Amino acid sequence: MQKHAEIADFVEVTPTASIAAGSHGGRAKCLQRLVRLDFPIPKTVALTFHAVRKIATGEAIAVEKLLAPFPDGTLLSVRPSAESADWGGPTAVLNIGVNSARHSELVQSHGKAAADEIFRRFIRTLAVEAHGADPGAFTELDRVEDCLLTFEEETGEAFPDDRAAQLIAIMAAMGKAWDATSARLLRQAKGAPEDAGLGLVVQAMALGLGPEESGTGIVQFIDPKTGKAEITGAYRRQAQGRDALRPGSKTLALTKDAAGASLEEDCPEVFSKLRYFGDVARIRLREEMQIEFTVEAGQLAILDAIKADRTARANVRVAVSLVNSGVIPKDEAVLRVPPHGLIDLLHRQVDETAPRDRFAKGIAASPGAATGRIVFSSTAAQASAAREEPCVLVRRETTPEDIRGMHASVAVLTERGGMTSHAAVIARGLGLPCVVGASGLRIDRAARTVIGDDGRIWREGDTVTIDGSQGEALAGESELLEPVLDDAFQTLLGWADAARDIGVRANADTPSDAMTARAFKAEGLGLCRTEHMFFENDRMNVMREMIFARTAEDRSQVLRRLMPMQRADFIALFDAMRGQPVSIRLFDPPLHEFLPVGAHGLKELSDALDLPLDVVTRRVEALAEFNPMLGMRGVRLGITTPEIYDVQARAIFEATAKASEAGAPVVPEVMIPLVSAKREVELVKSRIDAMADAVREETGTDFDYRLGVMVETPRACLRADEIAQHADFLSFGTNDLTQMTYGLSRDDAGRFMGTYVQKGVFPEDPFHRLDLEGVGELLRIAAERGRASKGGVTLALCGEHGGDIEAIAFCRHFGFDYVSCSPFRVPVARLAAAHLAIIDRRQAPELDPIT
Ligand code: PEP
Ligand code: MG
Repeated sequence: MQKHAEIADFVEVTPTASIAAGSHGGRAKCLQRLVRLDFPIPKTVALTFHAVRKIATGEAIAVEKLLAPFPDGTLLSVRPSAESADWGGPTAVLNIGVNSARHSELVQSHGKAAADEIFRRFIRTLAVEAHGADPGAFTELDRVEDCLLTFEEETGEAFPDDRAAQLIAIMAAMGKAWDATSARLLRQAKGAPEDAGLGLVVQAMALGLGPEESGTGIVQFIDPKTGKAEITGAYRRQAQGRDALRPGSKTLALTKDAAGASLEEDCPEVFSKLRYFGDVARIRLREEMQIEFTVEAGQLAILDAIKADRTARANVRVAVSLVNSGVIPKDEAVLRVPPHGLIDLLHRQVDETAPRDRFAKGIAASPGAATGRIVFSSTAAQASAAREEPCVLVRRETTPEDIRGMHASVAVLTERGGMTSHAAVIARGLGLPCVVGASGLRIDRAARTVIGDDGRIWREGDTVTIDGSQGEALAGESELLEPVLDDAFQTLLGWADAARDIGVRANADTPSDAMTARAFKAEGLGLCRTEHMFFENDRMNVMREMIFARTAEDRSQVLRRLMPMQRADFIALFDAMRGQPVSIRLFDPPLHEFLPVGAHGLKELSDALDLPLDVVTRRVEALAEFNPMLGMRGVRLGITTPEIYDVQARAIFEATAKASEAGAPVVPEVMIPLVSAKREVELVKSRIDAMADAVREETGTDFDYRLGVMVETPRACLRADEIAQHADFLSFGTNDLTQMTYGLSRDDAGRFMGTYVQKGVFPEDPFHRLDLEGVGELLRIAAERGRASKGGVTLALCGEHGGDIEAIAFCRHFGFDYVSCSPFRVPVARLAAAHLAIIDRRQAPELDPIT
């Protein structure tokens, strides 16, 4: 930013004037570009942020000098010019300079109706904006005289006739409006710095009112919803300002394709000039612009041009077509699409423009939106699905038994839980909209009701919409927008892939998840949570039997049944990923996720296992842990009951041998979860090696495999040097690592996370956004120690953070090989990784030339 002292308070916008977005605002800079391109821009003067601050605090500026370019009697408009258009600003004010004498002249030149409209409008604006008068006091006033009287009554002052005084009053009001708390918070939410300044542009008015063809309009050359080339906008005869073009106002169509009269037919010259300027703007400003114009007595004036507003989907198409027409290079198109915006394209979304009736607020755990009838149990969800009635599963929290219900539902809402709790992780994998931790809900399962944040009661069967992108539950059926993965989307992501320099894999548990991952062009699977392969109804009991087995003989019986299931699963996974790497994690079942809850669950299990209820109850009690997430999980299961991992390893290797028969050799990756000591790895590795040898011999097939360790305990990070000695790759499980670094339960965090973030204890939910300071420090230590002890060790991150741009930036910085995230986040991660690589290469990025 330039220093105030060196810059004049204001400058006329000419091709050579010294104007910068950082001192005069984006609008002023853009107007200068238009002037340079010979657009018919009325005379304009731009004020600096510093000058506007002075005016707002009552300090004098050389207003007569400012007015010098505008002949006496010229009416003026003032528009805000913040550094970025996204930061908003006060509304434009028109017709500054009108007074009784000028009004009489306008009556002669433009007719009484037009002159009255101009004067009334300004009297009211000045009273309301500069003096805080009640706008209602002016509503039914038709006569100019009445307006002037009301001005005096409301403000206690006579209406100022002097143009300079009017201008200063308006500019001071706009400067103060910019400093209002609500405006400041709003723009800060859009990324504006605390001290963001407001510039202003003062422009000679083209009136849009008068005897010949006069009016005001906006035009753009794309459909703002799809981004396809199409002339859209509106024109209104005998009108001024953008508010004349509000939906519902009486406008004239722009093109002759529309029914009835059109600007194209009635004013062909104006129309063809607009087209011409649209083309010039696209090519020279390298952007699709929306042009604001006025016609006064048949003459076209262009008042302003801003980047045409558009949906995320349209933005992708515009970026691609700018490349295809040679206007911008591919890397720039990639940078013009914010990665997070892709989420809107991948899932159905609630139409932002439709009304929302929210009854619960929670954590936005899985994006997208869906409407369905409320159900309170998995059984009800399955019944609903059988009737082909979409349903929303509402639960206090979800357990593995709910997987069936989740599969049968279109969305999930839970009272408890956080970003990485069970429901959230599963929903993201399934691409199911999900809100968790909606702690204001009160669910009464017996009465089959749920009370919302606002006290309203919802019953089973009531229709609601879950907005997993916003973390809200809405009453009734909302208007939804369909996802679009069109050719433009694929093209852009192809360019992103060419630009990025870190791998992106997917976390997928089943062959169908793997197909989704492949469709989103993941470069392999970074995490297959094998225990999730047992969530399905008939398989859940196999898992439970295995957990319940008391003797080695009992267990090996169960394992004999489990083995072919796993082998078939792995063959299907290898098949789905067709030669790409597949990282299979050995069982990591926190036992509580597989044990039944409540009397009903125990009864179901005793029936399924054909065991007396009291035996099942006692066994469940015996297995219960105070802290299941810190208990018999992960590799601890593999150490205490090695035959379980043996069977999984056999299934993996037999599937490898089988899949390799068909084509290129498959190199499976086997991952050990929740490691905290080197010895754990040594013990498991020696058995897996032995199993690989056995299968090689039995099948007569030679194959390789890679052994990986999931680094998800602080100790594993600190001892990464010795652990890496036994591993081909280290994959960081940042969900557990976050849980253990903070000592914060990933399943219970939802209860207080809102308060914590609100009070600024945490800047963000660390399960959602990787904590670079704390957890990041452990990752850094582990990466450095791991690489120092074993140079070629592969580094990866496979926690839920894998799709997050900051986590990806971190991983790139420390030389990680890939990140892995849920399939639906893969495109986001591909694009985010490309942004980072391009920005790095460019050094000084210019993200978007038009502000
Ligand atoms: C992790 O802990 O980050 C991880 C990927 O494993 P899970 O979420 O299955 O515990
Ligand atoms: Mg984990």
